[in-house]
Amino acid sequence: MSWKRQIKLKKPAELRIMREAGRINATVLAKVRELLQPGVTTADLNAAAEEVLKSYGCISPFKGYGRPPFPASITVSINDEMVHGIPHPKRRLKDGDIVSIDCGTIHEGFVADSAFTAGVGEISPEARQLLEITEGALYAGVEKMRKGLRTGDVSAAIQNYVESRGLQVTREYTGHGVGKEMHEGPQVPNVGAAGSGVLLRPGMTIALEPMVLVGTYETRVLPDQWTVVSADGSLTAHFEHTVAVTEGEPLLLTVL
Ligand code: MG
Ligand code: MG
Repeated sequence: MSWKRQIKLKKPAELRIMREAGRINATVLAKVRELLQPGVTTADLNAAAEEVLKSYGCISPFKGYGRPPFPASITVSINDEMVHGIPHPKRRLKDGDIVSIDCGTIHEGFVADSAFTAGVGEISPEARQLLEITEGALYAGVEKMRKGLRTGDVSAAIQNYVESRGLQVTREYTGHGVGKEMHEGPQVPNVGAAGSGVLLRPGMTIALEPMVLVGTYETRVLPDQWTVVSADGSLTAHFEHTVAVTEGEPLLLTVL
């Protein structure tokens, strides 16, 4: 059975472990954020992330994932690179870049998954607006992570938030359940119809991750077989949190 259909509800004790995994993941991302300056290499960022993970006795599920195996613990995606950029010792950040950092943490057998995009030095008004809208879309989705609503309500909230502000959202890459595996069900696309999809139940843990493009929503994968870029070279951004559905308010797991 495909991962997209395997939904595992988490017990309270498991949710506590996932919350701790999320706290560690947030600590890693905060450390990397501090380093986003012109001249820093993307490999430096990965090394810093690995140092923090190691200090907690944790590893990232990204390293060795997929085919070809992803070679690093974080992904670093700059400007038109939307997701899955590979850290490299010769790739240096420049003033005006926008950089997406995605990190996962495995703690006591459970995965946390979160990403943010931020500017390096001074960024353009267009870039700033892209970041604000992408982060806003994530929280529009989080707001719908409630018992009794459906995954389509989350998808529609993300899509409407982005498109009503004149930007586009990816069709090919989606949010996903997360737990003992980095990818579990349900799949949560970034576009969809309210009222459709899987019923949200307490104990579901889902990584929501809007990926937003200033141009068209078409993307392509570079010859490295990982880096996803906008097909038209336009700017892109990506924010992600792992969120639990509860009896009440949505619970953000990947915050400090
Ligand atoms: Mg991620
Ligand atoms: Mg994810």
